[in-house]
Amino acid sequence: MSFIEAASPHVMNTYGRVPIALSHGQGVRVWDVNGKQYLDALGGIAVNTLGHNHPRLVPALQDQLAKIIHSSNYYHVPNQEVLAKKLTELSGMTNVFFCCTGLEANEGALKLARKFGHDKGIERPEIVVYEKAFHGRSIATLSATGNEKVQKGFGPLVEGFIRVPQNDIEALKAATEGNKNISAVFFETIQGEGGVNPMRIEYLQQVRELCDQRDWLLMIDEVQCGMGRTGKWFAHQWANIVPDVMPLAKGLGSGVPVGAIVAGPKAANIFGPGNHGTTFGGNPLAMRAGVETIRIMEEDGLLENAARVGAHLKGALARELGALPGVVEIRGQGLMIGVELAKPCGVLTQQAADAGLLISVTADSVIRLVPPLILTEAEADEIVAILAPLVKAFLA
Ligand SMILES: *Cc1c(COP(=O)(O)O)cnc(C)c1O
Repeated sequence: MSFIEAASPHVMNTYGRVPIALSHGQGVRVWDVNGKQYLDALGGIAVNTLGHNHPRLVPALQDQLAKIIHSSNYYHVPNQEVLAKKLTELSGMTNVFFCCTGLEANEGALKLARKFGHDKGIERPEIVVYEKAFHGRSIATLSATGNEKVQKGFGPLVEGFIRVPQNDIEALKAATEGNKNISAVFFETIQGEGGVNPMRIEYLQQVRELCDQRDWLLMIDEVQCGMGRTGKWFAHQWANIVPDVMPLAKGLGSGVPVGAIVAGPKAANIFGPGNHGTTFGGNPLAMRAGVETIRIMEEDGLLENAARVGAHLKGALARELGALPGVVEIRGQGLMIGVELAKPCGVLTQQAADAGLLISVTADSVIRLVPPLILTEAEADEIVAILAPLVKAFLA
């Protein structure tokens, strides 16, 4: 009996899994336990920034494993300061709190927004969130999420959220008109799980301005679109704005769980001793992964690579698929690309895997490509060569 046939009677049944178990990888290629090879255009869902078995990341992590894995936040962790300083330089912000996951970074951001309100004398602070947003699956972050499927069965939801549509400044103004309880606006620069839906540059600038005028925190969830994926360190930087709070995770540790809340001057001193904490957050292994990931990204010019190869990939997809009647839109930036089809296309995940390509389908009908940032143009062409015929056959 194979591993797959025996699969997982004791693991809770929470994922709709593709029946594949990966064994190992090299660069943007992975192999399953039966030896079949795949081109990895999913990157562990925008996590494996440097691909697999990176020749400089792995020895650094091995070195760290042999020194100390975990020490607790009872003590200083020197690489916390190194990584925090680096993240503040890259973001133009000032202070960082380390945690382990995206939802945890977002949960902390929501606490910041609540306390920011309370510190100003607002008894019941409210936070503006967006339709189709995804912020995680804790009770608070699923309440902030704009997807009923994520929320169903978990009520009562956390209150204090006001929901608005993307890219509509008049809707935001109308929804908050005269409301003195607003403390923050919270969104993803490019919605990931919601279907690769970008905020427009002009809208980002308008919301920044509105937050300044009204003394609200601008909180931007860059968990998926951040860490170089779009060709800038953080996707909102395309609009030349700086948020007050920025949750990070996914790509930050290149596969090692690392999360962070980055804060600017308006939010950096909201938490004091005793207000927030975590056992695993900022541990020596995680910090080494973050420090080395960013070092390698800089040494190897991976931002520029993400921008260039992403544009190449999007262009090739547009040439192959753009004119097909069943293709609604090809969108995204850098190596975060969505191909929206006119009908649900979840079956393509399995079909692509059978053809040797790992992808995901999100929001029912959007093919999502978030490969490692080391992808080359030749590998991008390979993705298109496998994917385009499948999409054409699916739509035919
Ligand atoms: C994945 C994701 C999260 C949740 O991160 P987890 O590490 O799964 O908790 C939150 N926000 C965005 C934008 C994400 O893409």
